[in-house]
Amino acid sequence: MGTGAVVGDAVRESLGRYREKRDFESTPEPSGERTGAASTGERRFVVQRHRARNLHYDLRFEIDGVLVSWAVPKGPTLDPSVRRMAVHVEDHPVEYADFEGVIPKGEYGGGDVIVWDRGTWEPHGTDDPMAAVADGELHAEVHGTKLHGRLVLVRTERKPDDRDDGKEHWLLLHKHDDHAVEGWDPEDHPRSVLSGRTNAEVEADPDRRWHSELPAAEAAEEVRSSSDLADEDELAGLEALGKEGVWQVFGRQLKVTNLDKVLFPGRGSEHPITKRDFLRYVAQVAPVSVPYLKGRALNLHRYPDGSEGKSFWHKEVPDHAPDWLPRWDNPLAGPGETQTYLVADEPAALLWAANFGALEWHPWTSLTSGPERPTYALFDIDPGEDTSWEEVLVLARLHRTAFERLGVRAQPKVTGRRGIQIWVPIRADLEFDETRRWVEQVSRTVGAVVPELVSWKWQKRERGGRARLDYTQNAINKTLVAPYSTRPAAGAPVSMPIGWHELDDPELRPDRWTIRTAPQRIAETGDLFAGMLVHDQDLPTFG
Ligand code: MN
Repeated sequence: MGTGAVVGDAVRESLGRYREKRDFESTPEPSGERTGAASTGERRFVVQRHRARNLHYDLRFEIDGVLVSWAVPKGPTLDPSVRRMAVHVEDHPVEYADFEGVIPKGEYGGGDVIVWDRGTWEPHGTDDPMAAVADGELHAEVHGTKLHGRLVLVRTERKPDDRDDGKEHWLLLHKHDDHAVEGWDPEDHPRSVLSGRTNAEVEADPDRRWHSELPAAEAAEEVRSSSDLADEDELAGLEALGKEGVWQVFGRQLKVTNLDKVLFPGRGSEHPITKRDFLRYVAQVAPVSVPYLKGRALNLHRYPDGSEGKSFWHKEVPDHAPDWLPRWDNPLAGPGETQTYLVADEPAALLWAANFGALEWHPWTSLTSGPERPTYALFDIDPGEDTSWEEVLVLARLHRTAFERLGVRAQPKVTGRRGIQIWVPIRADLEFDETRRWVEQVSRTVGAVVPELVSWKWQKRERGGRARLDYTQNAINKTLVAPYSTRPAAGAPVSMPIGWHELDDPELRPDRWTIRTAPQRIAETGDLFAGMLVHDQDLPTFG
């Protein structure tokens, strides 16, 4: 636990800088630098932490359609007093920028790779960064999640000794600028900005393998490690059923009904979505959705007549439920309260709930093994009637800055409706009162930076159309929608985990992914929420 006041002040200082930048961006006079950046397009940079024969960080800048790369054994730093050795290595294809996974042993660079940081950058003092690299000096203004400010790379004289590998040796340093932080060590920030996972966690359960001998577009191989995946025969079995029948799936016999009934209208000109489509989606995403439901009471939001019909909360497992369905008797339940909850410990249980009309899945924040101890601190950016999507993004980016400064691992997801939620996994040794208070402190600190966007009023009509940072969901039996759950709206949008850098993606929308596009998205990115399954964090004291 840190000293409270110091942590709070550091967060406020970082957020204040954001405020200055926002004020600057909202002024009409264009900045010379920004006009320059716009005319050349956004350039990406990425830093991958790579455990090969030796641990190193690969620092890569997108220049002229390739990733110009340096291997930095001790990693980049914000500490301006430190000089790092950097070995200029071969350019990499831009497709490699998103790669996180395992390079098989025996192949070039064999080991594990995480996307340690990424963002955008501009060259400084030149319009031709490739020429600058050739001349042996590159100045880069970087805007990442961890790295910010001016990095400088300078080629040093090559010393042809025994260890000379024929590669150029450079020095990497961070300028004394507003973003410099004395004593900053990359090894204190070891997790992926994509998935929240460490190298060891990716090694243990990789989503992808990279084969550098293949063309870049084919080099990333998807890895299916989960036994929870419905196979082709099981999916074909669903298609072969008539209006209803018994579906043999995930080792269970599941009675499914009304398969051709429309549950969601189509979005725009798309076809409506039937119950068969919905069940197929649930089977497809079970490997990534069930881990967030396992061991937790599940509150079902049921829409028996589809997303446009009546809806209600259903918590008690009904008498007609099959015997194999996993369930939990709540020892804290009083008379008249729900006694027995569904626990979706296996994919077939989630399919049972889906067939029962649960278009939304709301798992408890605590486990059934300790219902009074939350395993997450939850942030809910709940837009008001007048809140624009751009304003939701401003609030989410402020949270990103706060978590980075606090050193807290957190992951955002779009809700599938209009908002963004951020989940923070924690060690289950706090009470709900404590997580709620902590979330409120962080939220009020963020909200103070942009008071014009946020209301703290309880009643919706008193909020003047402004957003609410809702910390009150941190309570027993209060829930947020699960990752990968559908939402009741046209097209069946999905609550999709995102990487922090995606807050800067102009294509991001809160309902961007639907039942039709989510499986492909998950195949491309892997489960970006996987780091949320590791409950090992203490919340820093916030002053
Ligand atoms: Mn490498």
